Amino acid sequence: APMAETIIPKATAKRLPLYYRYLTFLANSGTTKVSSTELSEAVKVDSATIRRDFSYFGALGKRGYGYDVQSLITFFKKILNQDRLTNVALVGVGNLGHALLNYNFRQANNIRISAGFDVNPEIAGTIQSSVPIYPMTELVKQLKEQQIEIVILTVPTDAAQAITDELVKAGIKGIMNFTPLRISVPNYVRVQNVDLATELQTLIYFLEHYGPTLQET
Ligand code: ATP
Repeated sequence: APMAETIIPKATAKRLPLYYRYLTFLANSGTTKVSSTELSEAVKVDSATIRRDFSYFGALGKRGYGYDVQSLITFFKKILNQDRLTNVALVGVGNLGHALLNYNFRQANNIRISAGFDVNPEIAGTIQSSVPIYPMTELVKQLKEQQIEIVILTVPTDAAQAITDELVKAGIKGIMNFTPLRISVPNYVRVQNVDLATELQTLIYFLEHYGPTLQET
């Protein structure tokens, strides 16, 4: 369930593929039970950390009995598959924002918009196209809690830089910028600019100057 996903610490999530790979190896060699000590030696993560990691998924181990390899595999497989689904937030639920909320990213790419944000109190606190919309006061908190690293920015141009600064503080890694403003970000944040008006103007310019047949590269 998505609720359970959000409370798994990032460090734990990063170790899951490691556990998964070794558990698959064990299963293939016919092993049905494994202790945290055995696992620890194999994956070079101390056993206390392993027990703590596994505790996030409920009490799957029994003292003196170890963990059931197959149920761990089933469990991790599910989590890892879910993990590949990238959660993205959308800031600014106006006309363009709504269109993007309705666009089915997931069908093609395993991407979904899992949270929206807007300053407008009439939109904040509602659910739009199955996506909860939060007030801007919850921006940093929600992004961190939901471990969202990518944001689609569809706010008015004059709000873009201030919001960008907040997003950077919230630990965002990538911004899809639909505003015409060239936002400033530190070098560890990637920005993809999608300026629809400029793109359309460019198309019109090329049509006027070169006609329809020449392909611009
Ligand atoms: P669009 O430009 O996406 O077609 P629009 O014309 O409906 O949208 P805009 O004025 O561009 O409206 O605003 C887009 C959305 O951004 C609106 O829902 C608005 O409430 C929201 N918005 C405006 N200022 C802020 C802000 N500072 N923080 C967050 N959201 C904001």
